[in-house]
Amino acid sequence: MKSPNFYAGLQLDRASEKRRDAGWIAGQLARPESRIVPVWRAQSLVIEQPEPRAVLLPAAEINGFDGISIYLGEFGGAPVFAVDLSALDESSVAAQFGARGKFVDLRSVGGLMERQEGGMLAYARALAHWHGRHGFCGVCGAQTVSIAAGHVRKCTNPACGTEHFPRTDPAVIMLVHDGDRCLLGHHVRWTIPMYSTLAGFVEPGESLEDAVAREIYEEARIRVDEVQYHSSQPWPFPASIMLGFYARARTTELRLDPDELQNAGWFTREYLRGPHDPDKFRLPRADSIARRLINDWIDAG
Ligand SMILES: [Zn+2]
Repeated sequence: MKSPNFYAGLQLDRASEKRRDAGWIAGQLARPESRIVPVWRAQSLVIEQPEPRAVLLPAAEINGFDGISIYLGEFGGAPVFAVDLSALDESSVAAQFGARGKFVDLRSVGGLMERQEGGMLAYARALAHWHGRHGFCGVCGAQTVSIAAGHVRKCTNPACGTEHFPRTDPAVIMLVHDGDRCLLGHHVRWTIPMYSTLAGFVEPGESLEDAVAREIYEEARIRVDEVQYHSSQPWPFPASIMLGFYARARTTELRLDPDELQNAGWFTREYLRGPHDPDKFRLPRADSIARRLINDWIDAG
């Protein structure tokens, strides 16, 4: 059994069947052991030293804030909620929470965090982001309100009343290899010399396997087959689920899409094991499924 990817394998009971029971939810929030995961402008509250830890607050510390409260679930015997504090300005946030920790981008600390805590922060961040982007109904344009403990937004126009559900956008990410070498690319937008597996969003009307083959062809003009699923990873930066694959290259001559890839090449396991000069070549971040795909491929050789 493979170990879960970062941000996956969260051991939390989501109790999804109880989300619409407002009395039950209020009772959970009122329990003395209930805890809040605060999110502020897509950032998570952590203590950075000696190693990053998530800061979960007693509900009393959030009292008086009129934001959306999202029930995440029962974790380690305590109900856990997320609250989006983005409406607070920087100085109020510093005054209220400065002594507790610091709001940082989860991506800057996630790879060093205890896995369950990192998964919790990722889940909270994903839902806070969704609420922030779905204040209006996509059907009629009226305002929406949060219901079902933060897991549904309902249109306030009585003639419409559409319920909108949190979305997560599927993206495929794939390690393409020819047996001995794998294809890694450097994206045009990256400012560090990082090389990673290719990736792209799944489009309507295609299977995951179709998306893998299309993305590789579009970005590098490589034809593949033997597309095999590896594992997946929630990636709330801002709203994806990454679906990891291996694929075998049937052609090897690269022709790069200049809008996507600045550089790409075929790398052997020996080269990837390193060492590397970090000014010239870096592998993807430790918490990414890209790194997981690469590491597992190296270990399989
Ligand atoms: Zn509507």
